[in-house]
Amino acid sequence: MSAIGERVARFKISDPKPARCAACFCSADATTRFVDLDAHIDRGAIVEDGSGAVIDSIDELHLCENCVNNAAETLDYKPGLHQTHLRLNRELMRERDELRQENRILRQLVGEQ
Ligand SMILES: [Zn+2]
Repeated sequence: MSAIGERVARFKISDPKPARCAACFCSADATTRFVDLDAHIDRGAIVEDGSGAVIDSIDELHLCENCVNNAAETLDYKPGLHQTHLRLNRELMRERDELRQENRILRQLVGEQ
C-alpha cells in the first residue's frame, strides 16, 4: 500500500465526536458526523468573548461532514451526484410507465372506433 493509501486508511468516523470541527468550529450535534483525519494539530484555543476564558482547544484534526463535503466538491467530487441520478431515473421510469398506460388506453379507444 502506498504512503497515501496507508494514510487514507487511517481516516475514520470520529468516535467519540469532538466538541468542534477543526475547520469551521461548528459544535457537534446529534446528527452531524465528523471525520477523524488522524492528525495532531495546534489549532489554538476557543475563548469566550469578553472574559477571554478558554472554552476549548483543538488539538486533533476532526472535520464535520459539511466541511468534508465542501472540500470534496472543491475537488470536483460530487457526493450527491449518485442520489440525483437515482432520483432522475426513478422519475423517468414513472413517466415511462404513465405513457405506456396512456398509450394502451389510446390504442383501445382507436380499436373501438
Ligand atoms: Zn466543519
